[in-house]
Amino acid sequence: MVVGAGLAGVRSVEALRARGFDGTITLIGEEPHRPYDRPPLSKAVLAGELDSTFVDTDLDALRVSFRPGVLGKGLRPGVVETTEGEIPYDGLVIATGAVPVKLIGDGPQHVLRTIDDALRLRELFQPGAKVVIVGAGWIGAEVATAARRAGCDVVVLEAGEAPLAVAVGAEVGRFTTPWYEEAGVELRLSTRVAVVEQGRLRLADGSSIDADVVVTGIGVRPAVSWLAGSGLKLSDGVVTDEHLRTNLPNVVAVGDCAAWWSRRYGRRMRVEHWDTALGAPEVAAATILGEDAVYDPVPYFWSEQFGRMVQYAGHHPVAERWVTRGDPRRDAKWSVCWLTGDDRLAAILTVDRPKDLVQGRRLVEGGQRLDVERLMDPGSTLRDC
Ligand code: FAD
Repeated sequence: MVVGAGLAGVRSVEALRARGFDGTITLIGEEPHRPYDRPPLSKAVLAGELDSTFVDTDLDALRVSFRPGVLGKGLRPGVVETTEGEIPYDGLVIATGAVPVKLIGDGPQHVLRTIDDALRLRELFQPGAKVVIVGAGWIGAEVATAARRAGCDVVVLEAGEAPLAVAVGAEVGRFTTPWYEEAGVELRLSTRVAVVEQGRLRLADGSSIDADVVVTGIGVRPAVSWLAGSGLKLSDGVVTDEHLRTNLPNVVAVGDCAAWWSRRYGRRMRVEHWDTALGAPEVAAATILGEDAVYDPVPYFWSEQFGRMVQYAGHHPVAERWVTRGDPRRDAKWSVCWLTGDDRLAAILTVDRPKDLVQGRRLVEGGQRLDVERLMDPGSTLRDC
């Protein structure tokens, strides 16, 4: 049985069948939709270029009993309690993803997690509408891009000192600050929202800002509240080992909700990225079928903001310093390379330098020492450094 019909859920079904599992598979999902991809929601869907983003899969061919609109409410050994009764399982994949964090206050606020959220926002992004986005992270930047393109008057409020500060650190994130002004978006840094009221946001300093549309993009939490009291170990998500196995027999977890042990980094990781939802189910399916598989990827992520392709691979918290390829203050295309104390690449962030990303990702995986002088020359080929 698979709970959660997002990408990680449907990939789990595919992986089980691909490995020859011939038994019954039930896939339940809270949403009323077939599994769909989320990355296009803040890009092509908001831009009006796409109306649906269904995952390209054949549920009939997979012989899966797909039950949309059914919520997992609780878990006991061998049984998932749902809004439509109890469903027994021999093996269980937990793939319930994450839910957006909201601000306090009873004024209207929108989040962007589902296709319905995206279609609703698209309607509201009318020329001249005042859109206030809270959070200058990945989602906030992408929503600002779309709202501005739709002709809205856009303000982004960010509690930190720089955009993307939580994701890549304030020093690196600051390189993206000018993108907002260039796009005609007002970015207010170090600005904390206290409460959402009707038609406006009250800020922590006592001032307020009017808004026709408030979009909250301040992060997500793993969707695991339904597992409370089940005996499953939870700590910022469902705790798993490197095989994606939980502390309960025959139960694995994948995607945004899973906090897995990374052999590579010697720490627990929970990565809210599409690539994890795509790749982890292979290992989870193998584990549940009794095979020996380990999930140990170099995390990868991309974002499209203000006409730029931003990509990231690796895990920069293990680095000691960073250097750039190209000048982020002057050049349109540049990369930041995070290095360990002994000059190995820990992570790379690229802006419109896709070759750097591909080669950098391999260097992170390979772990070889690099010639840093050469690496800092944007004309060099990264793989030869
Ligand atoms: P989800 O996609 O969240 O799917 C989980 C499903 O489980 C949901 O449908 C949920 O309703 C359902 N569910 C939850 N609780 C229950 C329950 N108790 N019972 C039954 N069903 C339940 N990543 C990138 O790498 N690049 C990007 O550019 C990018 N852009 C993004 C843009 C947006 C707008 C969003 C929202 C995400 C983006 N991501 C991006 C992140 C990426 O989409 C997620 O990492 C990925 O969707 C995680 O997949 P998942 O299957 O683990 O979880």
